[in-house]
Amino acid sequence: MLRVIFGGTFDPIHKGHVQTSLAAFTQLKAERLHVMPSAQPPHRGGPTATAEQRLEMVRLAFTDYPQVIAEPWELDRQRLSYSLLTLQEMQQQWPEDTLVFLLGDDAFAKLNTWHRWQELVQVAHLAVMQRPNQDVCWAAEVEQLAQQRRVTDSHALKQQQAGCILCLDTPAIDVSATALRSKISHQQPWEHLVPPAVAHYIKQHQLYP
Ligand code: ATP
Repeated sequence: MLRVIFGGTFDPIHKGHVQTSLAAFTQLKAERLHVMPSAQPPHRGGPTATAEQRLEMVRLAFTDYPQVIAEPWELDRQRLSYSLLTLQEMQQQWPEDTLVFLLGDDAFAKLNTWHRWQELVQVAHLAVMQRPNQDVCWAAEVEQLAQQRRVTDSHALKQQQAGCILCLDTPAIDVSATALRSKISHQQPWEHLVPPAVAHYIKQHQLYP
């Protein structure tokens, strides 16, 4: 089974996350999409939602999609959310399956700052989504890895269990959680940037004041 793992803070989840990850899921012809909030990052300031609230908003965003799992994996474990450790645990849990770690190109550009980043391709494929207006410049080491591992066809991801990097042709949706939180707190129009059920939840719980 091909499982796409989409990690992030999702504070909150927005249409940029939802539409691009669903497009990636379709392009990859995957069987499951795990949308996985990270545990609370200790350094984040400002008004933020709790881990449970972020997970609940992920669940609400994908209620119409039975193949999508609001994945509590990193919230259930008492450790920092290192993607490598999570993917290694998932590989042990599902040894027959292929894992594709999905990320935006702004995150991919800085991959060399992640914990033991070079080992990620030993446990998963990486699929990279375009993100508009992020002024992305890949770090030289990341560029080098991409040159070594890049494939142009999603079929390659079914031929081996890990190790490929694929740049996807996903829609460019110019939304970020930072901009969204700022709009909410400044009472600017924001509801159109999230799925209706997520907008309802944010209002009900008075998040991001
Ligand atoms: P923030 O503005 O707080 O950094 P964010 O909108 O980037 O938040 P994250 O939860 O940090 O959201 O992102 C999780 C993942 O989703 C990352 O890999 C990021 O690159 C990707 N992503 C976020 N927004 C988009 C978007 N509009 N299009 C494509 N990928 C996105």
